Amino acid sequence: MSTRSIGLDDELYPYLLDVSLRESPLLAELRAETARLPEARMQIAPEQGQFMAMLARLAGARRYLEIGTFTGYSTLAIAQALPSDGRIVACDLSREWTDIARRYWRRAGVEERVDLRLGPASETLQALRDDAATEPFDLAFIDADKTGYAAYYEHCLELLAPGGLVMIDNTLWHGSVADRSDQREDTVAIREFNRKLYRDDRVELSLVPIGDGLTLARKHIA
Ligand code: CA
Repeated sequence: MSTRSIGLDDELYPYLLDVSLRESPLLAELRAETARLPEARMQIAPEQGQFMAMLARLAGARRYLEIGTFTGYSTLAIAQALPSDGRIVACDLSREWTDIARRYWRRAGVEERVDLRLGPASETLQALRDDAATEPFDLAFIDADKTGYAAYYEHCLELLAPGGLVMIDNTLWHGSVADRSDQREDTVAIREFNRKLYRDDRVELSLVPIGDGLTLARKHIA
């Protein structure tokens, strides 16, 4: 069994957190507050936030594009991994959720780094592409409506610098992507999206079984 990714059962997962999760008190507080919302399951796992922050540092990312901000956990985790001149464009539909996010960004002293765009992400992304002043992004994260993934991904590839990385959440969709009898709209959308990325020779690809599955697609340099 040493040649495949290990599954995390109820004993091993807490162990992983115990020996590796270094969550700041502010992130922990945000996670606890979000856990009280009915939509709590939309929040990324804490070890995933830590992993994404490490990727941001490894990439030397300065400009980060986020599609689906929710209560701002991923935004905050990555904001703290950007240099002081780092900039974030964060897209979401909900004022209510992002009001929570903004409170925590302010407390962390990163609020001025975040350009929050409320509205349909497809419109925000098109506006960014249409604006000649938009600088390329180094890093992007897609975690919004699943039927929109394919379009968001295409926008991201256009907006990323060569060598830039796009991270896509929920690509294992609680395992349902492998269950052919599951024909729900979101499941089908993610299944087709995964297949599309597999065939996409514009990117280097890895699907990491962290959280609910995090796909990394790095835009080729040339
Ligand atoms: Ca998600």
